[in-house]
Amino acid sequence: MNHISLGEWKTYARGDMTADNRTFYEQHLYTCDQCMTLYMEAVESIQDEIPIIEEPSYIDEILSKIPFEQNKKISVEKEITKKWHEEKVFHYVLAAAMTFVLMTSGVFSELTNVSTQFEKNQQTHHQSSFTENVLNKTTDLLGRVEQSQKEEANDNE
Ligand SMILES: [Zn+2]
Repeated sequence: MNHISLGEWKTYARGDMTADNRTFYEQHLYTCDQCMTLYMEAVESIQDEIPIIEEPSYIDEILSKIPFEQNKKISVEKEITKKWHEEKVFHYVLAAAMTFVLMTSGVFSELTNVSTQFEKNQQTHHQSSFTENVLNKTTDLLGRVEQSQKEEANDNE
């Protein structure tokens, strides 16, 4: 099996590739633990490049300063929200979900150097608080994606 390099995973995580390549990478990701590790490394290393996901409120702030008509404003907002979810949230949800799976399946520590950090944390914190945290975060993000898709569906009626 030909593996995918860390550099290529960074390109993927940035969303900087064709749909064909993207599909190929995603299929490989589902079947290859080694590349999943690289992929998580890539997501981590480019986090500074990705806008902070917790508070997209700056979008409102920017839009409020632009004298759009009300309809125009809503459609622009939706467009940004949609792109936001498609390009960024997917990677966070996938990474968080996989981290959770790897933590609970116990293979995480064998797969990545990041484990030393997690192991340190586990010595001082109860493990369930970490996994719950990841699960909550994942659920929260999925909820936001669903919400966004619902709004979009309503909009198309
Ligand atoms: Zn691979």
